[in-house]
Amino acid sequence: MTTNRQIQKETKKERIKREKQEAIYNDIFKTDYFIVVIDLNKIEDIITTEKNIFIKHKFSCCCYDIQNSSYYNHSKFYHIQGDNMTYKFIIQELIKQDFNKPIDNDIICNHKFFEGIDTIEGNNIQFEPYLSS
Ligand SMILES: [Zn+2]
Repeated sequence: MTTNRQIQKETKKERIKREKQEAIYNDIFKTDYFIVVIDLNKIEDIITTEKNIFIKHKFSCCCYDIQNSSYYNHSKFYHIQGDNMTYKFIIQELIKQDFNKPIDNDIICNHKFFEGIDTIEGNNIQFEPYLSS
């Protein structure tokens, strides 16, 4: 889902890099519910030394708001357990738990690009996905 503007701005070198990354991610992140766009160089980065964390997915985007969903501002939590909390590991665990599967079939949410994982201030074990449209 690349826009025309992005295609025009992208250089040949950037395109080759993006296509290489997409091919790798198609193999390691098998899900229909979101697309990982985290840079390949960052994917093995460890985000925390905690062994048990929660990913809090809050349905606070404009899609749920505009379409008057009863889920607006509600959250779904995903428990992740492991010794090596890299982006790659966490995302693979989220995929196993059907992360970002539509919670409400009447709502179309365009926030499918998984750009990162944000920390929540004052909380060491809870994180939030950063999803863009
Ligand atoms: Zn959305």
